[in-house]
Amino acid sequence: MTEIIVLGAGMVGVSAALELQARGHRVVLVDRRGAGEETSYGNAGFIQAEAAEPHPIPHDPMTLLSYAFGRSNDVVYDPKYLPALAPVLWRYFRASAPKRHRAISKIYAQLTRRSTADHAPLIAAAEAEALIRRNGYADVYRSAHRFEAAARRAEALARDYGVSAGIEDSAALAKAEPAIRVPMAGAVLWHDCWTCADPGALTAAYAALFERRGGTFLRGDALSLRQAGAGWSVETARGLVTGEKAVVALGPWSPELLARFGYGIQMLWKRGYHGHFDSPVRLARPFLDAENGILLTPMRKGLRLATGAALVQPTDPSDPVQLRRGIAAASGLVPLGARIEEPQWFGNRPCLPDMLPLVGPAPNHAGLWFDFGHGHQGFTLGPTTAELLAERMEGARSEVLDALDPAHRKGTVSLRS
Ligand SMILES: Cc1cc2nc3c(=O)[nH]c(=O)nc-3n(C[C@H](O)[C@H](O)[C@H](O)COP(=O)(O)OP(=O)(O)OC[C@H]3O[C@@H](n4cnc5c(N)ncnc54)[C@H](O)[C@@H]3O)c2cc1C
Repeated sequence: MTEIIVLGAGMVGVSAALELQARGHRVVLVDRRGAGEETSYGNAGFIQAEAAEPHPIPHDPMTLLSYAFGRSNDVVYDPKYLPALAPVLWRYFRASAPKRHRAISKIYAQLTRRSTADHAPLIAAAEAEALIRRNGYADVYRSAHRFEAAARRAEALARDYGVSAGIEDSAALAKAEPAIRVPMAGAVLWHDCWTCADPGALTAAYAALFERRGGTFLRGDALSLRQAGAGWSVETARGLVTGEKAVVALGPWSPELLARFGYGIQMLWKRGYHGHFDSPVRLARPFLDAENGILLTPMRKGLRLATGAALVQPTDPSDPVQLRRGIAAASGLVPLGARIEEPQWFGNRPCLPDMLPLVGPAPNHAGLWFDFGHGHQGFTLGPTTAELLAERMEGARSEVLDALDPAHRKGTVSLRS
């Protein structure tokens, strides 16, 4: 019998498989596709040791009004979905109140802070150094008042969490990033962040490492998961696989599987899109055009433009309005070049309303474990939550493990009879 079945081969599941294997378990990793072909493929590739605070829903009325009237490219939504989204949005909004957000960030910062150190040995062992840049990224600002507010926030993050942030004024930014062809107010630099030139390839390289170390990776449908005696079974291309434990690491699809076992998971799917461009310029480092809600990252495939959040139901059809607006804004900023032809990609960030991933045992089923809900930072946090999951399986307890524990997350996890 396999000891542990890990369901889902995105960055989160592959990292969990590697960590459990490293601790001596026999692990089978199961996905209906190849490794890193979904959300972990199309993201911006940031490994964000600087992301001390998870993204809250803003409480200031001006920002909320700009969302409500569709004037922001950061967040868009279709009003017809508001009734369906209202419960999770309300919970998320309450968790975003300054006092609760500070308490959540105290835990979150302990996860993101160690993320680059947790990726480092995997990057080395997977021989993936060529994919990684260690020169951080910049948030660039067009308007002086937004730049000044961002600089104050960076100072606060440096003071409260030890994040390494720098400031570039207009002239320094123009010198550092000659590709930006319009005058900018300035930039905030985040030195602790690493960036990856192909997030799907890094995830696949970790999966290949898992297999080289003796692990088994099989195609299979996680929705076939069943209790089998004291353990769990799943149908795969090589027949039925059984295990003592099963780990749900299906990212945005995790609630669909868990509903079958009586768990109601409140998830907010924040969809993002990307497009690649054959740009004639080489950026000095990736950057966020904060006022237009777009990220520009040099990738192996071309310059990747990735968008903010569209609040959707997971099965909604593609509607890349933010990408279209982002392309219009970015092309005034840098020479984008021709768009590279490819099917329109999108991915749904698996966000939970209390902004922490769920990592730990399923409250009602022995041997079933959760490792999902990494929201905006799953590519960053895969190896970190993998280690926490393994520690929890070994019986460890800590403030961080308790905060991530599904049994302590009433509201985010509800039990249906
Ligand atoms: C535009 C955008 C930009 C982002 N930028 C960043 C960033 O810069 N840094 C960062 O840290 N995060 C970023 N994120 C978030 C990050 O991409 C996600 O948090 C992360 O990829 C989630 O990883 P995962 O392994 O949980 O999910 P996924 O990568 O989606 O993996 C889930 C896996 O489950 C499999 N699966 C689903 N259903 C089944 C089934 N029934 N049977 C078998 N297998 C199944 C899928 O095939 C998939 O391989 C971004 C997201 C978006 C959309």
